Amino acid sequence: MSQEVKEYQMYIGGQFVESESKEKSQSICPGDQKVLASFPKGNAADVDKAVAAAKETFENSDWGHVRNSVERGKLLREISKSIRERLDELAEIESLDSGKTITETNLIDIHMAADTFEYFADLATQIYGEVLPVPADVLDFTWREPLGVCGAIGAWNFPIMFNAWKIAPALAAGNCAVYKPAELTSLSSLELAKIFDQVGLPAGTVNIVTGPGRSVGQAIAEHQDVAKVSFTGSTEVGRNILKSAGSNLKKTTLELGGKSPNIVFPDADMKRAVNGAMTAIFYNGGECCIAGSRLFLHEDIYDEFLGQLVERTQKIKLGHPSDWEARMGPMVTRDHQKKVLSYIEWGKKNGLKLLCGGNIPKDPELSEGNFIEPTIFAAEDNQLKLCQEEVFGPVLTVQKFKGEEEAIRLANDTIYGLASAVWTQDIKRAFRVAKKIKAGQVWINQYMIVTPFGPHGGYKQSGYGKDLSKYCLEEYTQLKNIYVDLSEDEMLVFYD
Ligand code: NDP
Repeated sequence: MSQEVKEYQMYIGGQFVESESKEKSQSICPGDQKVLASFPKGNAADVDKAVAAAKETFENSDWGHVRNSVERGKLLREISKSIRERLDELAEIESLDSGKTITETNLIDIHMAADTFEYFADLATQIYGEVLPVPADVLDFTWREPLGVCGAIGAWNFPIMFNAWKIAPALAAGNCAVYKPAELTSLSSLELAKIFDQVGLPAGTVNIVTGPGRSVGQAIAEHQDVAKVSFTGSTEVGRNILKSAGSNLKKTTLELGGKSPNIVFPDADMKRAVNGAMTAIFYNGGECCIAGSRLFLHEDIYDEFLGQLVERTQKIKLGHPSDWEARMGPMVTRDHQKKVLSYIEWGKKNGLKLLCGGNIPKDPELSEGNFIEPTIFAAEDNQLKLCQEEVFGPVLTVQKFKGEEEAIRLANDTIYGLASAVWTQDIKRAFRVAKKIKAGQVWINQYMIVTPFGPHGGYKQSGYGKDLSKYCLEEYTQLKNIYVDLSEDEMLVFYD
């Protein structure tokens, strides 16, 4: 990205516009605090305009009609193609805006966004109902219809991916959308707006409104003309969304926080499981909803496993988001860095054993960024704050277990239920444990893999509803029952 401060506008009704208030926010690189760009600080009036544009297109055009499904699929495929063509540029913008390493954005995130649009392009023509076996001379069938205007609100940790996860299925199903990215990481969504415009999405089908959650996000969640809100963020804000969505009984999808367990049995492939444990907690600097932040090691392998894990963790190279050699970037803001450090300090003072990390790195080259060393604590009590609360940073707690039942009990002993993993060569044990874990995702001998094909979403206070996969189309459609009477009999009448 060039040194000049880029100026962005929001995308409403097919136009690039300023906010009604003319106020601006800034994007600041978490690696060096340089100002990268400015973009509109939207408010409720901008949401009103965006919803009106989406409603107008939905109600007064063919966009959502089934006869337009092939065209919708084509446009989604074009979006995917354009994202791939702009891979390097989008990856650089995403990294500088969010602090994610260029390796992650260039090799994974941007591709995942493109894959998601491509996957839902194929599903645009695959939305159908069923003929129901009613025991009578009738044709009774279900018909899936779009909802209308779908609102969506994203978190800051996987910005371009969340946009794709919510916009692609909404459009495939024939809806129009209003999307609010997190203010901290709005740039990739504003770049996607340019792509939506270039490929020729009809004006109003997608609207991108930037601005703070308490104004723009809340206005979307409360709006009477928004039929659904899909939210990715914290459990705390998820509760507010639910209240706001009650205004007109919107459908809601809530993808919330996690404190995911990662269980290693003694027969696991140790090298693979150590790799998995590192990816689980240090990928994206631990700023992952599905981070495997609680590692449970069987007592027989505890010492050997931890030895390897700590040794390799101490070698993780921290670096500026644009550094191809870096394997962990900075935290998204100074405030978030402070929050993560306060958890680490709590751990140090409350009897957890610090095994590595635990500080701001001393390397002067990193002094301008919001860096934190990858940190591992040994813990004995699962009720400790550090074993229960979501830190959202590179901080792992490790606990020892003796048997399968104990591992399952500890794994489930949290208010969250987003993701989990089991490492073992014993297929029967793997399935047994997977079935008993209360989480929306269980990986066996793997961690962190998310694809458009599989449903993503939580149990318990990690939320409900699914992103991705064919199942999420149920969240973006409503089911109508059409009953056709084919009988020749006289109709049963109750009245003279
Ligand atoms: P927040 O809940 O703080 O914010 C998420 C989004 O909601 C942001 O766009 C924010 O806007 C907006 N928002 C804030 N307040 C309101 C409100 N009152 N009404 C409507 N919208 C609002 O989460 P973070 O961005 O800090 O993300 C971290 C959290 O997200 C973690 O808990 C993490 O686990 C969770 N998460 C869950 C995922 C999942 O798939 N389950 C995936 C990734 C993250 P703004 O920030 O612009 O003010």
